[in-house]
Amino acid sequence: MNKAVIGVQWGDEGKGKVVDAFTADADVVVRYGGGANAGHTVYIGDQRFVLHVVPSGALHPGKKCVNGNGCAIDPLAFLDDMNHLPVKHGDVFVSDRAHVVLPKHIEEDKEREKVHKIGSTQRGMSPAYRDKALRVGLRFCDPEWGAHFDPKVFPEVMKYVRDTRVMLQEALERNESILFEGAQGSMLDVDHGTYPYITSSTTTVGGVYAGTGINPKVLKVIGVAKAYTTRVGEGPFPTELKDDLGERLRTVGKEFGATTGRPRRCGWFDAVVVKYSCEVNGVDEVALTKLDILTGLDELRIATKYYKIEMTGENAEFKTIPSRVKDLEQCIPRYVSLKGWKDDLSTMRRFEDLPQEAKDYVCFIEAVIGRPIRYVGVGQERSQILEKKK
Ligand code: GDP
Repeated sequence: MNKAVIGVQWGDEGKGKVVDAFTADADVVVRYGGGANAGHTVYIGDQRFVLHVVPSGALHPGKKCVNGNGCAIDPLAFLDDMNHLPVKHGDVFVSDRAHVVLPKHIEEDKEREKVHKIGSTQRGMSPAYRDKALRVGLRFCDPEWGAHFDPKVFPEVMKYVRDTRVMLQEALERNESILFEGAQGSMLDVDHGTYPYITSSTTTVGGVYAGTGINPKVLKVIGVAKAYTTRVGEGPFPTELKDDLGERLRTVGKEFGATTGRPRRCGWFDAVVVKYSCEVNGVDEVALTKLDILTGLDELRIATKYYKIEMTGENAEFKTIPSRVKDLEQCIPRYVSLKGWKDDLSTMRRFEDLPQEAKDYVCFIEAVIGRPIRYVGVGQERSQILEKKK
């Protein structure tokens, strides 16, 4: 079965670990968008691996890994990932139609961020995607890109470059299982995110098709949501906690960017955001990560609705995420309060073993977002993911 693992918040939902868990059943793992602005973390025992460009599937030797045409890739970041894999991996491929992030794109990104604060990871992504839209970008199939780097870089990278569309089409025809690894989150999507505080690519399910050139007719979409909310950089965040509680989530949840080390802003679970993203992506099942981080809190809150500050009565409720960030900034979330739990969840391996309050928290979210939660994360290690039966 083909699967897409897509973040349904503002990124950093823990997609790396979920992808890692599904990789055993996949033949091919594909990144369809973004580039070194992502940072997917996987723990194998105590060892931490952060991959920026190459799909997390590369941590499993023998799985074919592809960066599709929708990616924009810094060749140096790609080689750096390849050099940090625990075992040498011979099956990693980059689309010849993917755009090359050049040193000048990274320089420009850094300069722009000084003036125009968006919260960019400063990896050159938006200038590279801009050049793509302007039709002046260089792709891996254009040998001219080599002149922008040390002469050793071009031949080293070109060993991995292929027409990956053909490879993926053949995989589809052989009925192989393809796992699509989303980068960033749906709320950072260039069209459906909180524009302009977004990334420059399609992070939602449409990117699977546009960013690979194939059409998997059967595709299960797994939305990954953290049990609370985080966001890096600027932009509206209705359930943000700017107090000690936010600080506690940041410390206990180790909420510091895998790519930039920046502290992430933290807040309550926002079911309005997750419901919206589940609709945009046609999510079939949800993986709820980091439930263990909420242990010890007396009360947990979940935002189920947004109200407009200046209005009362029937029209005061936003029915969905407003299009303008100015409106979103003025939303007042309506919370439902649930009881917390004290038990350490990290050693639990069955959903049934969780404390009743933790089960209630998961089931409440499930009811509000209207999608089944099938997986629950209780720790950062590979094995710390529980399956919730239907
Ligand atoms: P991604 O970009 O969506 O892959 O997210 P990141 O990799 O940046 O961040 C996820 C972080 O949370 C990583 O350090 C993971 O090891 C960790 N993580 C993932 N799932 C869980 C979980 O269920 N519990 C805990 N405590 N950590 C988790």
